[in-house]
This record gives sequence, C-alpha cells and structure tokens, in this order.
Amino acid sequence: MLSMHKQIVLSLADIHHVSVGCPHCATKVLLDLRKKSEHAEKYGTLLTNQCPGCRKSYDSALGQAVTALQQAYDSLCVESVQPWISFQVSSEDGISA
Ligand SMILES: [Zn+2]
Repeated sequence: MLSMHKQIVLSLADIHHVSVGCPHCATKVLLDLRKKSEHAEKYGTLLTNQCPGCRKSYDSALGQAVTALQQAYDSLCVESVQPWISFQVSSEDGISA
C-alpha cells in the first residue's frame, strides 16, 4: 500500500485576494491585497466599517485583522522577499494506491 500526500504549492505572486464573510448575513466581500481600493487608499484599511449586504458593523477585531494581514502581505511583497515565499496547501487525507 502506497500512501500519497496531496499538496498544492502557490507562489505569493499568485495570492492576492482574500474574502471576508459577514457573521450576520454571510455576505462575502472579496478584497484585493495587491490593488488597493479607493476606500483602502483613503482610510488605510481594506475592510469597510459596514457589511455591504446587511449594513451591520463588522466586529472591530475583524477590521484590525484584515489591516494586519494587509501589512504582512505588503512586507512580503518586496523584491528581495517575494520570489522566495510560497504557500503550501496540504490534504491530510492520504490516498491509497
Ligand atoms: Zn452582513
């Protein structure tokens, strides 16, 4: 029996969208970490204060986490770092052959 481990490797250059779901109505917004929106340029944070679906306020911790993610992403996307960073998505389920 041979056990195989599935793995997908993604370069940092291929990853630049993050989706954020609303805890109230499950509306998802897709944020681009690379091309900042007008809101992001103006307010320094990608996530708006309110969900575009239900208009309820996001938890402030969610906004802070997205801002921290943006800052970490920006620090990785410099020429001396980006080519050397990749992400690996692994499947914990083994495949028998
Ligand atoms: Zn909502």
